[in-house]
Amino acid sequence: MALKFCAHCATELVWQIESGRERPVCPQCGFVVYRNPAPVGLIVATQDDKVLLVHRVNPPLGGYWAPPTGYIEMDESIEEGTARETKEETGLDVAVDKLLGLYSRANVGVMIAAFAGRIIGGAIAFDKKEVDAVQFFARDELPRQSAPTTGKLIDLWFYELVQEIFSALRAHGERVLKFSSGE
Ligand SMILES: [Zn+2]
Repeated sequence: MALKFCAHCATELVWQIESGRERPVCPQCGFVVYRNPAPVGLIVATQDDKVLLVHRVNPPLGGYWAPPTGYIEMDESIEEGTARETKEETGLDVAVDKLLGLYSRANVGVMIAAFAGRIIGGAIAFDKKEVDAVQFFARDELPRQSAPTTGKLIDLWFYELVQEIFSALRAHGERVLKFSSGE
């Protein structure tokens, strides 16, 4: 639990029962800290049957290839946020076509909506603070990556999700990719 002080009045928070479980509560103004997983959008975006991946710089999974992902902001839909993050990470414009799955796990702090999509414009350009390579991979050339041996629960969980997506693409690629071409 990172929050120690009230975000509104800076009084030290105390743990007490609120709406059925112990939560940090401000004894001064009554503010209650509800902790919820943050929504993240991920996209399996394709062009000419190849899958767009980014080589991540930062945790979780820094140093690994993964589909573009990002946190959704309050003033956008999850599809809009996924497209925006993809543009920021890769320079490419994507159409977000279909929800492939919604992934969550206790105590990782995020829930990930994985979409299929298509490249519809833009050119590869990226900020090296977030990703240090952007590349299209054929389904039978998707990177083989070993599991992280250090890091947090979220690193391993995100790794497993990326592995699951890669496995699905290798095994059922045509079907997954058909989602992305809207057929
Ligand atoms: Zn307060």
